[in-house]
Amino acid sequence: YPLGLMAEPEDKIVRIHSSSGTTGTPVIIPYTARDIDDWAEQFKRCYEVAGITAEDRIQITPGYGLWTAGIGFQAGAEKLGAMVVPMGPGNTEKQLQFMVDLQTTVIGATSSYALLLAEEIEKRGMKDQIALTKGVIGSERWGKKMRDRVKAGLGISIYDIYGLTEVYGPGIGISCDAEDGMHYWDDYIYIEIVDPATGEPLPDGEWGEIVITTLVKEGAPLIRFRTHDLSRIIPGTCPCGCAYPRIGALQGRSDDMVKIHGVNVFPRQIEEILQTFPALSSEYQIRLSHLEGRDTMRIYVETDGTQDFLDTADAVAAEVKRRIGFTPLVKLFSSEYANQLAYDAIQIHGGSGFMKDYPCERLYRDARIMNIYEGTSQLQVVAAINAVTKGTFLEQIGRYAAESYTEAMCPVVTKLKELTVKFSEMQARVEAGDKEVCGFKD
Ligand code: ZN
Repeated sequence: YPLGLMAEPEDKIVRIHSSSGTTGTPVIIPYTARDIDDWAEQFKRCYEVAGITAEDRIQITPGYGLWTAGIGFQAGAEKLGAMVVPMGPGNTEKQLQFMVDLQTTVIGATSSYALLLAEEIEKRGMKDQIALTKGVIGSERWGKKMRDRVKAGLGISIYDIYGLTEVYGPGIGISCDAEDGMHYWDDYIYIEIVDPATGEPLPDGEWGEIVITTLVKEGAPLIRFRTHDLSRIIPGTCPCGCAYPRIGALQGRSDDMVKIHGVNVFPRQIEEILQTFPALSSEYQIRLSHLEGRDTMRIYVETDGTQDFLDTADAVAAEVKRRIGFTPLVKLFSSEYANQLAYDAIQIHGGSGFMKDYPCERLYRDARIMNIYEGTSQLQVVAAINAVTKGTFLEQIGRYAAESYTEAMCPVVTKLKELTVKFSEMQARVEAGDKEVCGFKD
């Protein structure tokens, strides 16, 4: 850090991007003009595999800036000759307005933002006003349930894009209509799959960690870069007819792997089990703890409430035991309860770049996947807390306060009322920009 990876003289470097790095120190990747052009070419191929043409209007919602996302989507689209609508993240009102007014046909988004848009469009009954046909979705691994919801909600086909800042950015691979893995561009990168524990290369078809060697990258070439992403090389040719080789849909990260009672477990395996229970939502959280001298996995999952909570929890635990070999503690709760957890979650996790216009029911969900976002400001966190507290908490506490309660509850209610008043005061100070409580600029 900062420029140790720079492999060309500075006069050839035209831009840097940065990832947060696994240890917290940012990793800075320098790009030459050729790297930038190569990246755009690869992203253009992604659009072509998805059947997107120069006639399309592409609404780009991932962030711009140090992050490689937004600008990668844009450069590829411009090279393709499509019309770019460079929205950037957040501001859902404007996103929807442009989507309708400009009749954009393609949405580029992270999976969580695509889900937010899908839900918003459903809620407002706007589906017949939009013209989207395809979504190019990047940067997060996601489950089938969530994917299906976005597909149905937006009425689009979905193409998952692969990429990482160290190797250009998003656009080094994409899924096709065959929906079985992602094609990658083997004239730009060489992919090996290795055993995450030993580093030994694995034969085609076997699951392991993706290791990438760049073939023509100039600014920061990499040899056998360990991505920590888990996948496999899919042998044979793809039914879609595209001749580029394929890797399987990502199965998680090698550093996501946890050991419970001596068994290796990936979150993906839990997700697959949860998907077999129709009453459970696509939202879940895994917590690991060390209880009474034993490693324990607790699974928290939202349910629609149509089935008995305890019976379903027992069934999930039994299924995990049967398929993976250990018994987790499973806790089900209604989506409403999840909203209440949102307040805690944002305090623990910080905030997300998109959070400022999220309705509160989104916050809990995004707290779970929050570590994908960068550049969160304190302002956004305060805005998010405001949304939660204003929208739900104060109202709810008000309702409780109006009800009659037993004597035993009186001290609690009094305390709650006090806290509510205190909170309203603090909120007013935050809104008035009181520097003493805000501690942030603007
Ligand atoms: Zn294909």
